Amino acid sequence: MTAKNKNITINEVDVKPGTSAQMSLNWYQLPTKTVIEIPVYVFRSKKPGPTLLLQAGMHGDETNGIEIVRRLITKDEVRKPLCGSIIAIPVINTFAFLYGTRDLPDGKDLNRCFPGSKNGSLGSRIAYDMTHEIIPQIDLGLDFHTGGKQINNYPQLRCTFDDANSLNLAKKFQPTYIINSSFREGSYRKEAFKSKKPILVFEGGESSRFHYQYINEAVNGTLRLMKYLKMVDVEVRENTTAFINKSTWIRARSSGMFHCTKTNGVPITKGEVIGEITDPFGEHKEKIVAPQNGFIIAINTHPVINQGDALMHLGFE
Ligand SMILES: [Zn+2]
Repeated sequence: MTAKNKNITINEVDVKPGTSAQMSLNWYQLPTKTVIEIPVYVFRSKKPGPTLLLQAGMHGDETNGIEIVRRLITKDEVRKPLCGSIIAIPVINTFAFLYGTRDLPDGKDLNRCFPGSKNGSLGSRIAYDMTHEIIPQIDLGLDFHTGGKQINNYPQLRCTFDDANSLNLAKKFQPTYIINSSFREGSYRKEAFKSKKPILVFEGGESSRFHYQYINEAVNGTLRLMKYLKMVDVEVRENTTAFINKSTWIRARSSGMFHCTKTNGVPITKGEVIGEITDPFGEHKEKIVAPQNGFIIAINTHPVINQGDALMHLGFE
């Protein structure tokens, strides 16, 4: 990790060590002439240390992540780090956030637009600004997400187990689950890794819902990581971590109504009943059985399901 003590400059705003500032990543125009900002917050210690990025809202409806960053940047310890710097972007995808959608108004997924281009579409421009203004100035980052619509992810940190540095940093966060996750083309995580900047992706809960327990887990994990980086000195209770090397989705063999008979996040034993599918008429019922020992790491919370729908995400050590 590099110890720097030079200026951080974002969109031509210089932030000196020992100071804090707020700026917009860039300015983006709506069809109505309205100019949209993407607010960025920088908090710096006088003492050199790592630059940590805290970002959320890459998908505009993933509200847990936005609340996690909001809670973190209201803490005195985070606003006045003991060393190094924090760059916080609570809502990257301001446009989708305004619309209450996951993706941009043109249907593009911002997290598939990297590295982006200066004169491209909206998503491509935001990606370009993140790639050029943020990635070169950070040492590592946390990117907070949730499951999709009605997919409730149990709190988990995703990184590639092939990179020892990423895995070590993930361990310091002490999430309940660390999931081996390969790089996706066009993602921020992949783009940052080209410059050897590890981005750990937190997933917790489902879109457009607050899950306060999961929000707390992410806030605590971030403080543990910051403590390891010597940026804060706070007491956070310890958490135990399971390492998930492989995962698989259990899909519905028939259409009907899905009842999960287990709680999200629990261990499961091969052969035990973990859910059932019924029809609405009391004529049909089938059991869903755990294929091997593992953990439930996400649940489809929608009661009515169709054949082939993803029901439960199972993780295996
Ligand atoms: Zn997301």
